[in-house]
Amino acid sequence: MADPVMANDDPFWEKCARHTSRYTARKIAYFFLCDDCATRFTNEAFNSRLPIYHGDPMQGFCGLCNELKAVRFRQWFLCPICYNVASSYQKGFVSAATVHRFWQARVLPVVSNLTLRETDVVTLSPFARGKRTKRQAAEDLADADFLVSEVIGGQPVPRFHIELKAGPGAVDEMSEFQLDVNDYNDIVGPVLNTGLPAYVFHVQLGMEYFPPTMRSVARNLWWTDLATLTKHLKRRARRRDESKAAFYFEPSAFRPQTEFPEHIVKRGFEEVQAALAAAPPELAG
Ligand SMILES: [Zn+2]
Ligand SMILES: [Zn+2]
Repeated sequence: MADPVMANDDPFWEKCARHTSRYTARKIAYFFLCDDCATRFTNEAFNSRLPIYHGDPMQGFCGLCNELKAVRFRQWFLCPICYNVASSYQKGFVSAATVHRFWQARVLPVVSNLTLRETDVVTLSPFARGKRTKRQAAEDLADADFLVSEVIGGQPVPRFHIELKAGPGAVDEMSEFQLDVNDYNDIVGPVLNTGLPAYVFHVQLGMEYFPPTMRSVARNLWWTDLATLTKHLKRRARRRDESKAAFYFEPSAFRPQTEFPEHIVKRGFEEVQAALAAAPPELAG
C-alpha cells in the first residue's frame, strides 16, 4: 500500500503543517516515525496535512513513541516554532513516564496513601494563537503537571503540585538552573490559586542512538520546592538567541532524588506550604 503524500499543488504546500492558519514555511522537517505515530502527528498535530514524503521501512527508534520498531523517514513543512514543539513531544512522554516510575519505585513503598495524578498530560495539538498571554493564563491556572493527594478515609485530599522540567543537563554539573519566566509563572499560578505547595522536578534526558535514529532516555532526577527555588534566584535575563526572559537559579536549590521519599515521609510538604504562606510567591511580569 503506497502511503499518500501531500500534492505539490495543495493549498498548504510550503505552509507550516502545524499552523492552523496558512503560515509560510519552506523548511522541510523530518522525523523517523512508526506508522501509528505518523498518523497521530498528521491527525492530532498537523491539521490532517499529509507528509510530503515517506521513506522505506527500517528498524529504528520512533521519534514520538520512542520504541525500537519499524519506522520510516517522513517529511512535513514546519516553521521553526512548530518543529521545536513537535520534536519535544517525545521528551515530554519520557519525562512524565520517569516521574510515574519514580513514584511507583521510590515513594509508594514508603507512603502508600499518596496518589500521583498527571494533571497536565502531554497532548499533541496544532498551533493556534491564543487570545490570552501566557501571563494571563497563569493567573487562572489551578494545576501544574502533577497533583499529589493523600487518601484519607477513602477520599483524596490534595497536598501538593509537581511541575516537571526536562533537559540535557545534570543539576550537579550546572553553573545555574534556567527556567523561563513563563514556566516559573506556571508554577506560581497554581500555588496562589490552590494554597497548595509546589515542587519542581528536573529530569535529565540523554540520547540513545540507533543510527540514523535516536531517542530520549531519562538519566537522573532532582527536585526542589518553589519556596527554596525562589530563595536561590540569582538573576533574570533574556535567553540567548531568543526573545523570552528567563530566571537563573543556584543549582544548589535542588536535591537528589534519593532524598525525596524521606522528605515526604516527614511531611516536608507541610513546611513548604507554611513557607509559601509566610512569603507568597509572585507572578513575574
Ligand atoms: Zn511510534
Ligand atoms: Zn508552525
